[in-house]
Order: sequence, then structure tokens, then C-alpha cells
Amino acid sequence: MDQKYQEMISNLKSYLDYLKGIGIESLALSENRVSHYSSPSTTFSLSLQEIQRELGECRRCKLHRTRRNLVFGEGNEKATLMFIGEGPGYDEDVQGRPFVGKAGQLLTKIIQSIHLQREEVYITNIIKCRPPQNRNPDPDEIKSCHPFLLKQIDAIHPEIVCALGTFAAQTLLKTTAKITALRGKSFDRAGIKVIPTYHPAYLLRNPERKREVWEDMKQIYEFLSVKDKVAQPLGGR
Ligand code: URA
Repeated sequence: MDQKYQEMISNLKSYLDYLKGIGIESLALSENRVSHYSSPSTTFSLSLQEIQRELGECRRCKLHRTRRNLVFGEGNEKATLMFIGEGPGYDEDVQGRPFVGKAGQLLTKIIQSIHLQREEVYITNIIKCRPPQNRNPDPDEIKSCHPFLLKQIDAIHPEIVCALGTFAAQTLLKTTAKITALRGKSFDRAGIKVIPTYHPAYLLRNPERKREVWEDMKQIYEFLSVKDKVAQPLGGR
């Protein structure tokens, strides 16, 4: 077989292995997309815009009945760092944007503490619609949203995913371990570093835990700095 085709098949195989590794077991490909497959480096990742279009005015779970706005996520499509929270709260539901309330303001400060701006990272949630009275997400709600979250991760392909709080950490790491046991560690998932930390809303209620989040952020900063070979000194907390 022509070497170019062998290379194409081998690239495609490793890409499919990677997708399987992050939990994507099937692909819905349009004729269009297949016919545009033109070079060995081309992949089948959907763009964020395509994923959002596919999600549409989602009615896949009961949360669509009570939400005002679906909160897809926002930020840099090419971010090296992605933050994943639990789900929209009141302010996010009203504005259709993630982390814009009090917890969001704290997240913005946390991001800035490692010399990044909100616009440089990508921010989303495990579930895209607000649960009534901000209750915890139900397993069926997490399940309905999960394929879209995986596609978002796949589209952005960050170096690091910072999982904010119990639900994000447990869902991404497929574990029932407590956040207290998970934070302070990093996990490799299909070549992406997953770093769990406390949720900013939890920090607002337990400010004495900020130091641990600071340790987690330093770990992220050091990883990104080593990679980029640039490091500005970080201030203490
Ligand atoms: N809490 C979350 O987990 N996500 C948001 O977007 C806002 C608050």
C-alpha cells in the first residue's frame, strides 16, 4: 500500500484509540466531513461551534423545563488550560455564561493568580443547565450532558483540565472518591493532565481552604511554565 495511505490509516487509528480513551465510543460523521478528509494530519474533531449547534436547544434531560438559558461554556478555543465546574447557578442561568456570579468572580481571581486572563482559558461545566434551587446534578443529567463535555474537551484538547469540586472531579475521573482525597494530585487521562481542586463556591464558605487551591494552581502554573519555558514569579497567598 502507498506509504501516504498507510500513514493516514495509522494516524486515524491512533486518533480513534485516543477518542476511546476519553470515553467517545462512536462518531456521527456526515458525508460532508468524510469527503473533506484530505491530509494525514486532518482529524475528525468537531469545532466548538459545531458541538454547540449539535446541542441546540437541548431537551435531553428534565433540566430544560426549568432553565432560562443553556450555558455552553466560553473562552479560548485553543486554550491549554480548561476549567470545568459543576453546573450553572442563578447568575449563569440568567446570563447564559459560566462562572459569572460570586463564585465566578473568585474563579477569575484564581485564574489571574497564575498570570492568565479568563479569555485565555476555557470555562465550562459538567452540566449545561441550572438545576432548580441549585441542587446537586442528578446522575441522568450528568449522563445526558457528558458526550458534549467530552466533545468540548476533544475540540479544545487542552494540556490541563482543572476539575472544580466533587462533581467535576468524580465525573472526569470516573471515581466516587472524595474531593479531599483527589485534590493535591494530578491524573493522566488520554494525555491530558486532570488536576482536581476545591470549587470556588466551597472556598467562599470555607476560606481557610484557599491555601490548598493555591498549591493546586502553583502545580498548574509550574507545568505550563516548564512547557512554555517562561516563568514569572508567583506571589504568595
Ligand atoms: N458554579 C459552577 O459550578 N458553575 C458555574 O458556572 C457557576 C457556579
